[in-house]
Amino acid sequence: MAKAKYEMRRKCPICNSVFQIRSIDSVYCSKQCSDIAYKRKKDCLIHE
Ligand SMILES: [Zn+2]
Repeated sequence: MAKAKYEMRRKCPICNSVFQIRSIDSVYCSKQCSDIAYKRKKDCLIHE
C-alpha cells in the first residue's frame, strides 16, 4: 500500500473549495477569499 504523499491541497475556509496550494502557508484559495477573511476578522474585533 503506497502512502499518499502530502498533497498540496487545502480547503478554503471561506468558499469551501479545494484548491492547490503553492506554499505551505496558503490558507485561502485566492486573494479575494483572504480579503474576505481579513474583513471578517476586523468585523469581529470591531464588534462591541
Ligand atoms: Zn476561497
